[in-house]
Amino acid sequence: MFHEVNTMNYLESLREIIFPAKIFGAEALGALGWILLGQILIMIIMNYVAQSRIFRSGRIFDVPIPARQRRREFIHSWHVFLDSIVLYIFLYTGLLRPSVFTWPDTLITFLIFVVWVEVYFYCVHWAMHSFKWLRPIHREHHRSVVNTPYSGFASSMSEKVVLLSLATCFMAALSWFMNITMSGIAAFYAYYYVIVIGGHCNTEFPFISRTMQRLGLATPSVHALHHARFNVNYGFSFVFLDRLFGTYTSETDTLRDRALAGNGYQSLKRPKGV
Ligand SMILES: [Zn+2]
Ligand SMILES: [Zn+2]
Repeated sequence: MFHEVNTMNYLESLREIIFPAKIFGAEALGALGWILLGQILIMIIMNYVAQSRIFRSGRIFDVPIPARQRRREFIHSWHVFLDSIVLYIFLYTGLLRPSVFTWPDTLITFLIFVVWVEVYFYCVHWAMHSFKWLRPIHREHHRSVVNTPYSGFASSMSEKVVLLSLATCFMAALSWFMNITMSGIAAFYAYYYVIVIGGHCNTEFPFISRTMQRLGLATPSVHALHHARFNVNYGFSFVFLDRLFGTYTSETDTLRDRALAGNGYQSLKRPKGV
């Protein structure tokens, strides 16, 4: 009995050292757990959905995926765990100071990060393509010419550090001036994962893709062409920055229409007359 009490006390003090209750309440722990496992879960689900017979007709580039591509992409996505680890460190050290949950603050947190990721991703992505000395950072991600749901997070460590720093440092800095909630951060990561993984699924989905198109969101054809043509379509989840800065290719609309009609490209070449 005495031994059991001692073990319990030991575990409780260990928990207090690793996850101090003052910082890591249920909301923070739930958000960290989601950020740790959510992307793996979405990757597996999306891979299953994109390969299912029912959606095969929506294939964007209907060409064979090189053998071992998925395996390479999975291996080069190992750093997905850093999202939650870095967030944990920022919380533990007090650099990130989340506020108590409220619905309005959660919504505002989510919307601010959605706008922020759009802007920083476009700028950094454009720079990594435009400046020769930055290209090596982005090279690993572009080894996939035709995407799979596992392509999204496959990148070099240096690219991960750049993108992760821009996301987390901004969150931390903002939390000193306004109410940022952990639920808002978790919702943002859910959005981020769906866009990254869905944007690489090489499949257009009837209804979903048309709805996204009407809202100005980038359907999977947008990023599929980025991988195939290299110097177009730099945006993250919307196409307005590409349209604004003239980096949007009109071939995207043809490709999307063809994929939705069950007539995706049979090769990587741009068809004549498009
Ligand atoms: Zn790129
Ligand atoms: Zn990509």
